[in-house]
Amino acid sequence: MGEVLPFRKPRVSERFKGLSFCRSGFHKWVIVKDQHFDARQGKLITLFQCRRCGKTKVELL
Ligand SMILES: [Zn+2]
Repeated sequence: MGEVLPFRKPRVSERFKGLSFCRSGFHKWVIVKDQHFDARQGKLITLFQCRRCGKTKVELL
């Protein structure tokens, strides 16, 4: 017992790095809603959201 490891998780910096990717336009898109009908556009669309920054986009298929 008594072991104190000066170990720091690299998560914060990794997330930071990810967000800088986002700022450069490289988002990590995941499908939120697959192919639902959008009444406004009158088309089937798929809703994507970035896992890192939460930005959303839609794609017409
Ligand atoms: Zn993003």
